[in-house]
Amino acid sequence: MTRSTLALVLVVTVLIVPGFSAVRSSVSPPASTRQIQQLSNRQPGRPPAADWQFTKTDHFEVAYTQELTPEVERVGAQAEHAYQRVSSDLQHALSIRPMLVLFSTRGELERALASGTVPRHHEHILLALDTPGRTESEFVHELAHVFTFDIVPSSARTDFPRWMIEGLAEFQRGEWTEEGSAVVREWLGTNGLPRLSDLPLVTSAEQTRLLTIFGHAAFDFLESRAGQGGVRQLLLSLQTNADTPTQKYVTAVGLSSDDFDRRFGEYLRARFSVRR
Ligand SMILES: [Zn+2]
Repeated sequence: MTRSTLALVLVVTVLIVPGFSAVRSSVSPPASTRQIQQLSNRQPGRPPAADWQFTKTDHFEVAYTQELTPEVERVGAQAEHAYQRVSSDLQHALSIRPMLVLFSTRGELERALASGTVPRHHEHILLALDTPGRTESEFVHELAHVFTFDIVPSSARTDFPRWMIEGLAEFQRGEWTEEGSAVVREWLGTNGLPRLSDLPLVTSAEQTRLLTIFGHAAFDFLESRAGQGGVRQLLLSLQTNADTPTQKYVTAVGLSSDDFDRRFGEYLRARFSVRR
């Protein structure tokens, strides 16, 4: 595959807005696809592009407007720190240089998306700076997606389950929210832990939220049995089309499909201190 086609198939646009829940649920492949279309379909007669300025950090292009100049160094440092975390954990260096696009407000970000005035690039991370919050951990989550898509070629990603994509990103972020922990405890308390073989196809933001929590727990379980090296091995195994991603995950955990649900439940009961 030539470099130019590789760049095309690796295109993914992610959207980071601290304090994010509503927007987070839109950071899905369908939304990303829409955003890419919006980025790509800029029509003559649309509002002119903002007066973008550009700089680089070690691993990112950065696009920003004049008034955000004082923020660039801080945000760039956070992005680089997040990069080092994910790169070290996954033992991988990105083959591409994503563009961080900074906006003063979420409203500006959304207007730029709607009007097609985001600078063209093969891969974007869009960041609104008006909400204080977990910017660096958000970077880690979104970068985990970028790394995953860099390691696993698109030809091997056709049946990539949502729980795995979002679960890996949340695992890399490495923070359990009260809300996420409460969902796991409720599953355990009601014997309602979803079976790995029965996870729903995503049809709603709520299901995406639950699959993300399930996936986070599943990657914690994998790490507890196989270490971070097991996570890395799973990603490498996803480069081929033999077996489904879910089967590869179960293999990486080192269990049979028959044993998985029971052992996963036992692990989570200990991890979240829920008694039978
Ligand atoms: Zn995500």
